[in-house]
Amino acid sequence: AKQSGRATMRVFEPRMDIELQARKALEYDLRQALARNQLEVHYQPLVELENGRIAGVEALARWRHPEHGLVPPSSFIPLAEDTGLIVGIGEWVLRTACAQAAAWPELRVAVNLSPIQFRHSELVETVRQVLVDTGLAPHRLELEITESVLLHDAAAAREILTALKETGVFIVMDDFGTGYSSLGYLNSFPFDKIKIDKSFISDLSAEKSNAIVRSVIGLGQSLNMITTAEGVETPEQVEFLLREGCEQVQGYHFGRPIPADAMTTLIGGWTND
Ligand code: C2E
Ligand code: CA
Ligand code: CA
Ligand code: CA
Repeated sequence: AKQSGRATMRVFEPRMDIELQARKALEYDLRQALARNQLEVHYQPLVELENGRIAGVEALARWRHPEHGLVPPSSFIPLAEDTGLIVGIGEWVLRTACAQAAAWPELRVAVNLSPIQFRHSELVETVRQVLVDTGLAPHRLELEITESVLLHDAAAAREILTALKETGVFIVMDDFGTGYSSLGYLNSFPFDKIKIDKSFISDLSAEKSNAIVRSVIGLGQSLNMITTAEGVETPEQVEFLLREGCEQVQGYHFGRPIPADAMTTLIGGWTND
């Protein structure tokens, strides 16, 4: 078995080299991306289901690579996390999104935080400083975190979340249901909002997902948290969520992520309605 293992290695080695090289090249490019102004933040509307009003936007990172075009976050966020570059990139996204939101009327802005940023001791101070520098009222900032943050070191996570909460920002449990969801987390950490992952919404025609979404909405209501459904694409999904009392929705049915300028235009039209 050992020997055939070696033979297999030999066959695949050249390809692994190419993949590794491509990754190294991308990592090299990503290191320059911030300094070369290749990163952008796009914004997707968060809509109040009851009245169709825009409650806020989620800030989503984009990388405009000179050769590869627009690189989606799924291709560079994990790389940024592996290399630690996410700390600088995350701070840039936070600052850019807060500065942008300060120029928009009333809207909240939701920013994703990586678990790696969470392990970085400066996080709370960074958030405070960005709010001061940009003049954004703290209640207009929502920080989206995933369950993995809580898993790693629950005591440290609780301390950071509590300190963040004291700055006046909103804390959102993102991608709810996809991780090692423990209902206990919702109770023992200071969350203001639960975001139901789009995998459950796209699967709403199935009875199981249907039941899960319904109970998460009920859970949010009894814990006094706002529930948001992500990845809403069809009128049927809207109808279901409305019936179940979900407060906020986000998805292609209401609007895709778009650059800041386009969002400024959209907000103008929206608020004049
Ligand atoms: P997420 O936080 O779950 O963000 C929602 C993702 O769903 C976004 O993908 C958004 O474009 C997509 N989406 C929204 N509505 C729909 C819909 O109706 N249908 C479908 N199929 N998709 C929809 P995106 O922008 O590609 O981002 C992917 C993930 O990358 C995000 O998932 C988030 O985890 C991560 N990410 C993006 N920006 C940042 C960032 O600045 N920092 C960190 N740490 N992570 C980020
Ligand atoms: Ca998110
Ligand atoms: Ca998600
Ligand atoms: Ca996420």
